[in-house]
Amino acid sequence: MPEPNFFILGVILVLLTMLFAIFTLVKMKRIRELVRIVSNLNRSLEEMDEQAKLIVRTDMELNKTQSELDKKIAGLYTLQRLSRAITTTLEEAKIFEMIEPRRLEEMGFEKALAFLWNDKERKFSLPLNIGFTQQETQGVISRLDTEIALRILEEEKTLSSFSIEEAALKESIDRIFGMKAYVIAPVLPKHGERGLLFVGTDSADVVLTEGDEELVTILANQLGQALENARLFEQTWRAQQELENKVEQRTKELTDALEKIKIISKRKSDFISAVSHELRTPLTSIKGFAAILLAEKLGALPAAVKERLEKINRHSDELVHMINDLLDIARIESGRMTMKIEPQDLKNIVASVSDLITVQCKSKNIDLVQHLEAGLPPVFADRSQIDRVFINLLGNAVKFTPQNGKITIRAEQDNDHVRVDISDTGIGIPEESLESIFEEFYRIDNEINQQVKGTGLGLSLVKNIIEAHKGIISVKSKLNSGSTFSFTLPIAK
Ligand code: ADP
Repeated sequence: MPEPNFFILGVILVLLTMLFAIFTLVKMKRIRELVRIVSNLNRSLEEMDEQAKLIVRTDMELNKTQSELDKKIAGLYTLQRLSRAITTTLEEAKIFEMIEPRRLEEMGFEKALAFLWNDKERKFSLPLNIGFTQQETQGVISRLDTEIALRILEEEKTLSSFSIEEAALKESIDRIFGMKAYVIAPVLPKHGERGLLFVGTDSADVVLTEGDEELVTILANQLGQALENARLFEQTWRAQQELENKVEQRTKELTDALEKIKIISKRKSDFISAVSHELRTPLTSIKGFAAILLAEKLGALPAAVKERLEKINRHSDELVHMINDLLDIARIESGRMTMKIEPQDLKNIVASVSDLITVQCKSKNIDLVQHLEAGLPPVFADRSQIDRVFINLLGNAVKFTPQNGKITIRAEQDNDHVRVDISDTGIGIPEESLESIFEEFYRIDNEINQQVKGTGLGLSLVKNIIEAHKGIISVKSKLNSGSTFSFTLPIAK
């Protein structure tokens, strides 16, 4: 048996050791690589985990935001409906009735109270109560600290259970209302009683946010605006009502007065008619006897007697003239005057009255001018009455215009009427007399009137005649410059 070769064995051992070492080294390298890969994997896993957590978190937040957004939209929708109902209510007592419990619930609250502060009586009234039992309400009223309530009102700021910084204040409000989640907003109309709107919830799941605070603030603002509108409406309505009552009362007074005037006017017309008739009979006799005497049928008369008789005759004529005017005024006023209304050509009327007045004009060297619009339509008039109008107005114009003056007759169409202006360059009429000159027996105290006789009936008669024709008469005048009398007559269609 050969001797084992220790050298070779040693070499083999060394070689084996080296091989093992090399193998181990290679393995170690791989292991290290694997460790690195594993740690990389670990890191990736951790990162993925983080990302997954982030995704979950983001999703949760998104869900929360979404539900808050849904709540806000629902709240806004409800608020819009409430606002419409509130702002279209013009009765103060009905405004708070518009806040129905279901609408409040849609906004996330089940209890509400509204207070209005009466400054005179120094106390709050309760126009709204939702969800509070009678006992709870009594409790709130008894605990309500006026000072705190007025402070919230003065500061004009919305307070909510989650945002009150002052611990003592929060404690007081919690105690007054006995609730943990609530919003209190001031109701601030510009006029009248101001107040507070309290809304709250007992639900443990509800977490109030700034969005809720905003919604309640908007609702309280709308209430304030609605109260303001209702109060203004009430004021305007009351004022209008008062005005209507006054107008009604005045109308009644005026109607009564008019009735009285009509009765008095009728009595006056009847009286004038009666007296005039009574006067006319003896006057006719006087005139008749004077005429017989003047005709010397009862014997020749001395010149002095004749002269006196002529005076009696002249004065009797004037009296007859005056009585006739008075009778006509009374007849027209009482509607007893029968008029023959027919289409009349103003050109003809003006021509004939101008002829009549020409002699008087010439005697004072007064220029009589006509300006009649070409193609004047015919007017509806009673010829003899309109002749009287022209004769009276032209007669006055001549009477009150000094020597060498001018009188102008103008006529032109004015819509469905023809307007006639008779102007003179005479003494004019003082402003304070302009309203009175159409009254019976009114005469201005001036030099001409002191010298020339007149009755003060002419213009009254003219006015009555024009008004009986459904026309209007007016006057414009300047003292010492002249006057213009204008009247209208309806066009004959
Ligand atoms: P009478 O002429 O008989 O006095 P009227 O009724 O015709 O009565 O006129 C009333 C008064 O109006 C006249 O007395 C006169 O003072 C004033 N009056 C009328 N027409 C004129 C006129 N054209 N110019 C100035 N005054 C006038």
